[in-house]
Amino acid sequence: MSQYAATVCGPVSKEKLGRTLVHEHVLFGYPGCQGDVTCAPRFDREAIIERSVEKLVRFRQTYGLGTIVDATPNDCGRNPELLMEISKQSGISILCSSGYYYEGEGATAYYRFRALLGDADKEIHEMMKTEVTEGIAGTDIKAGVFKVASSKNVITDYERRFFRAAAMVSAETGTPIITHTQEGTMGPEQADLLIENGADPNKIMIGHIDGNTDLRYHMKVLERGVFIGFDRFGLEGFTGSPSDAIRVACIVALVRSGYGSRIMLSHDSIYNWIGKPLDVTKPTHSETIFVNTVPALRDAGLTDDEIDTLLVQNPQRFLASGIGSQHGGTVFE
Ligand SMILES: [Zn+2]
Repeated sequence: MSQYAATVCGPVSKEKLGRTLVHEHVLFGYPGCQGDVTCAPRFDREAIIERSVEKLVRFRQTYGLGTIVDATPNDCGRNPELLMEISKQSGISILCSSGYYYEGEGATAYYRFRALLGDADKEIHEMMKTEVTEGIAGTDIKAGVFKVASSKNVITDYERRFFRAAAMVSAETGTPIITHTQEGTMGPEQADLLIENGADPNKIMIGHIDGNTDLRYHMKVLERGVFIGFDRFGLEGFTGSPSDAIRVACIVALVRSGYGSRIMLSHDSIYNWIGKPLDVTKPTHSETIFVNTVPALRDAGLTDDEIDTLLVQNPQRFLASGIGSQHGGTVFE
């Protein structure tokens, strides 16, 4: 069966994905930003499109970028129609996420209240399944990945609901799952929870693993057969963010230990904030991998093929699910 990634513009055959960043945010706002009326203009759709297209066209032309996974959860300003427009204009394939953010920073009130009233697990399962099989909010734009998230040192009962639903739907549909670990904690537990509920380890990427710099911890996660994301390149020097030099050293050690086929890269950068920007990063954050990391990996002895495995081949294998052929829609070869 041909394998396709479910992008916001429809299924794209995996060979066409090219260099892929597996965790970025075209648009992001913490729940509550809607109430901050001091931001003017609050949401300038045209300006956001123009700024994002300009950036992505430049990345495509300069660095050969082909695809990004937009990791913005449903409750943090996810906007599939905006992503579709930006994808069309920029020529970059974009996969949109389905899922809710971790308890400390997400919009928890809705499903916590639903849980008091009835069967929230069933409702979350239905919501997430609809988003990958039919489309999001009445559009025919499908989510291409699940995004689930847990807290520091704990996966709360609230968060577990989304992990279970993602795993069960992924088992049925092949939809890949990306995760948020808080400060690099709970990676093995996340992988176990997803696998116990039916997810294929090949369809799981434990994210923000670079919040932890202990190679034994990385290997403990990798033993589960999953992918890991060194997906915060360029975020340096605050809690849960080591230097990029340490990230590079970890990757080289893991590749030399035989795990090159299990690692993917990204920045976790935010192209546009909803609400007031919380910019703690350098302006070049969203292109650090191409400007600094790839040369650093090369200097540390990785071959171009080994680097391509991280940026092209691993995302290809991870993101393609065959769902496009199962569920119809135009196939963009
Ligand atoms: Zn993120």
